[in-house]
Order: sequence, then C-alpha cells, then structure tokens
Amino acid sequence: MFQKVHRYLTLLCTGITAAIMIIMSLCYLYVSEQAIYRNHFSSFLNDMDTMIASLEQQPVISIEWLSQMEAQGSYLFFVLDNGIPFLYNRLNDSDTDTSRDSLLSEILDVYQKDFSASDSITRRSSSGYRYHYAAFSFTSSLTSGNYYVGVIERQRDLSVLQIIILSPLTGLEQQIMRQRLHFFLIDITAVLLLGIFSFFFTGKLLKPIRENQQKQAQFVASASHELRTPLAVILSCAECCKDAPREKQEGFLHTIRQEGMRMSALIEEMLTLSQSDSRFFSVNKTPVELDTLLMNAYEAFEPLAREKNILLSVRLPEESLPPCGADEGRIYQVVSILLHNALSYTEENGSISLSLSLKKDRFCICVEDTGIGIPDEDKRKIFDCFYRAEKARSAKGHFGLGLSIAYEIVKLHHGSITVQDNPAGGSRFVVMLPG
Ligand code: ADP
Repeated sequence: MFQKVHRYLTLLCTGITAAIMIIMSLCYLYVSEQAIYRNHFSSFLNDMDTMIASLEQQPVISIEWLSQMEAQGSYLFFVLDNGIPFLYNRLNDSDTDTSRDSLLSEILDVYQKDFSASDSITRRSSSGYRYHYAAFSFTSSLTSGNYYVGVIERQRDLSVLQIIILSPLTGLEQQIMRQRLHFFLIDITAVLLLGIFSFFFTGKLLKPIRENQQKQAQFVASASHELRTPLAVILSCAECCKDAPREKQEGFLHTIRQEGMRMSALIEEMLTLSQSDSRFFSVNKTPVELDTLLMNAYEAFEPLAREKNILLSVRLPEESLPPCGADEGRIYQVVSILLHNALSYTEENGSISLSLSLKKDRFCICVEDTGIGIPDEDKRKIFDCFYRAEKARSAKGHFGLGLSIAYEIVKLHHGSITVQDNPAGGSRFVVMLPG
C-alpha cells in the first residue's frame, strides 16, 4: 500500500512541478523568440536605411557596391532597371538555377498586391530622385523558406530602378531551433532530477507514517496475543464449570474472576496508551507539591513492600521546594508504575528508595531498587509497548505497557525518563520534569 502511495506522490510532485516548469519555459521561449525576430527585423531595416543613404550619395549603382552590400549583410540582391534584370543579376544567374527568377516574381507579386507605392514610405532626394521603400516578411510557396524582404524603388521621370533585398531567415531559424533544443534538454534533465528528488523526498515524508503504521500493527498483534491467554482460560473454566460438582465450581469461578480482572487491567492500560497518541490524552497542569505526592505514593506502597519483606524508604529535600507545573494524577501514575515495577522485580529482603531533588530548575524523581536489574541491551527497549525483558516474563499481571505509559506521560510534560544501573545492584529510574 505504501509503495503505491509513494509512487503516486512521486508522480504527483514531479508532474505538477514539471508542468509548471515546462509552461514557464514555453512562455520564456515565446517571448525570447519574438524578441529575436524583432531585433533581426529592426537590424534589417537599419541596413536598408544605410543602403538608401548610400544610394542617395552615389546615384550610379556599381557591381562592386552591390557585391559589397551583399557580403556585409549576407543578403541577396535583385536589381531591375525598368523591369529588366540588371547586369549584376544576369552575371550571377548564369551559374544558379532558375528558382531565383521564380522567387523574384513571387516577391514582386506580393509587393504589387500588398505594398503598392502608396503604402510604402516615399522620400525625395536632393538629386531629384524619388525613393519608395517597403519592408515585409515573406514565405515563399516555392522554396517554403522565410525571408525578410526590402524593396527600394528609385524613380526619376520614366526611369524606375528597383532594388530587392532578400534576407533569408534560415540562420535565424537554426539559431531558434538550437535554443529550443537546449531548452528541451534542460527541461528533460530537470524533470529527471525532479523525479529522483521527489522519490526521496516523498519517501522521507512517508517514513514516519510507515513506522507509525508498523507500530500500530505490532501493538494490535501484541494486544491480541496478551488478551488471548486469559480469554482461553476463562472459556475453558466456563466449560469445566458447567459439568463440575458444586464444590469445584467455586474454584473455576475464582479463576474466571481473576483472569477477567487481568483482562480489565490490560484493557485499561491499552486504552491509556492509545489515548496518548490522540488529543484525548491531555495533561491538566496545576501547581503540584511533588514532595506531598511522593509521600502519598510511599504511604500507598509501604504495606505492599512490608508484605514482601522489602524495605521501602523515601528521601525528600529538607528545604521546601517550589510547586511543579504538572498533572498531579498523571505524575502519581508514573511514580506508581515505577514503584510497582520495583516491587515486582525486587526479591525479598531487598530495598527500594524513592527520592526527590531539584537540579538546575528541574525536578528529579528517582526510584532505585536492589532487584534483578536490567541488561544493557534491554535498557533502550523497555519503554516500547509490550516489551518485557526475558527475566521478567514470568511476572504475573505484567503486560509490558507500564513504562510505555510512563514514557508518554513524561513526554507530555516535556520531561525525560531514563534508566541506569543502581551502583548497589538493581535499577535506577530517573524522571526529570521542568520546573
Ligand atoms: P511490565 O508490566 O512488564 O512491568 P513495563 O513496561 O513496566 O512492563 O516494564 C517493561 C519491562 O522492563 C519489564 O518487563 C521488565 O523486564 C523491565 N523492568 C521494568 N522495571 C524494572 C525494574 N525495576 N527492575 C527490573 N526490570 C524492570
């Protein structure tokens, strides 16, 4: 399921970002291509102006002048003197195909139709010549090539000289195609990199969700396992109770009641833990006198300790401590869990000590015992749900949830809970709470 979501999220992230990037690139390409065409056309117009100025200065057109102009701007020139191709063209045409003639007549058609002399710009020179000129872009139906065309018409009396300047756009179009190709390659590379990045990014995003789901699945599996044992006992006792003689029934009913209570305790702990992940598990902080809280806990557990022949002691600071902002009921629950564990995992004649101190504005509650202790490899795991160290497995009424609950409560108080070896043997649990 997660793999599918991961794939879907990767595609979604890559798709959306790639679409935005491609649209932006296309917009940029469009604007930049328009600018390239505009610049090219205005430089063509500038060249035409230069040619007209040069024509005005030297009324006689020489072959050298035309060759020079053609070479300077990589233009093609056609010159018609009263409609008859100029010697220059005739010389050039001799070694080229007749398509130049067809191109010329095509251009002249367009010029006559769309850019008649009245549409073009006219100016009269000091030498008595009248100049018409027009510039336009043109696509040849014969060669399918695109050109900028400039027509300069010089008139005096009945003599008309036409100079047609042709600027093929092939070079410009190649430059634009190269630019498009660069953009295409850049976009493809960016989309690939985006895909790789999205894959790792969404994987990182999903990691905590995946871990949480695994934890939940493990929690449900462990909970079902823990519930199955007392349930099986209850069912078999109920079955036996049906046919058992009256004096034996009391024994079965007692077991059923005990297992029922075990199940109830387990369900209670599971409920507390499941709420700790949700907003229902709230801490209601009030100023709490921790020394009084510890004294109350001591008084509650002292009879139990005495019953097991364990020495339970409490050590409180002599000076009075400021109150701690905490949820009294929840902190009492933490202390109870620690004391309950200490009593469960400490042999007869052992000792347990409960103490309170203030260290750098932080309250420190410490529960030490001289019990079986916790191996180093288990120290990190004991706060996990349903984890029980091998040595503690036989302890009845222990489901491996107590320390998980304590951990969640302390976390909600922005404090910490740690375990160390007690130098006198056994374990030492330390709870630090902010002041
Ligand atoms: P449980 O209900 O099994 O005690 P906890 O979450 O309270 O569950 O504790 C988890 C495990 O940590 C216990 O099963 C036990 O192995 C170990 N443990 C907790 N407290 C002590 C202690 N005071 N001494 C030795 N082992 C302990």
